[in-house]
Amino acid sequence: SLDVAALTAWLDRAAAVLEREKARLTELDAAIGDSDHGVNMARGFSAVAAKLAGAPPADPAALFKTVGMTLISTVGGAAGPLYGTLFLQAAGQATGKPALDAPALAECLKAGLAGIVQRGKAEPGDKTMVDALGPAVAALDAAAGASLPQALAAAAAAAEAGMMATIPLVARKGRASYLGERSVGHQDPGATSSFLLLKALADTAA
Ligand code: ADP
Ligand code: MG
Ligand code: MG
Repeated sequence: SLDVAALTAWLDRAAAVLEREKARLTELDAAIGDSDHGVNMARGFSAVAAKLAGAPPADPAALFKTVGMTLISTVGGAAGPLYGTLFLQAAGQATGKPALDAPALAECLKAGLAGIVQRGKAEPGDKTMVDALGPAVAALDAAAGASLPQALAAAAAAAEAGMMATIPLVARKGRASYLGERSVGHQDPGATSSFLLLKALADTAA
């Protein structure tokens, strides 16, 4: 299972990955948005890593709460409040647990996705981060009996497939929806960052 140290290692890795993929995410957002998703996410997760290094949280719930608050105040755009909500909802699910096993992580991710959907009102197939996170939740649920590394690898693979599946979709939420049919043929930036976050989690647990 993942304790505060392991979750911190995940977020440090996520910060490094998002910094490395910053130009790619911004390029995806340039095609169907306003070219800031890479910069937004790299800035936010770098702030998260700095915050966790400065004041290590007592338990996973406190860690998720710090992450959510930091993302809300530093990422901006549509994605900041949505990812912030994910972590704040995950904090609620993690309350009282010293470490998170696969079923506990599945509950956290499920609550986080529900928060994103409640806030952003995106449905599956609207070409958003929900299209990567939804399949990841389902895969994590289905793999809850497997080992943690296996369950997280399955979740990351499902997120990647969901990310790829956004390419032919028409965007129905966020800035990309202003393009209508012209959004077809482009991979959604937020689905891509969701995949990168889950891949970093799977790599941390591997
Ligand atoms: P902005 O569009 O405000 O510049 P970002 O570029 O940081 O914000 O994030 C854009 C991403 O946010 C999109 O690629 C999409 O995945 C996600 N997104 C936008 N609106 C919604 C929504 N209502 N629900 C879920 N995800 C959304
Ligand atoms: Mg943008
Ligand atoms: Mg923007």
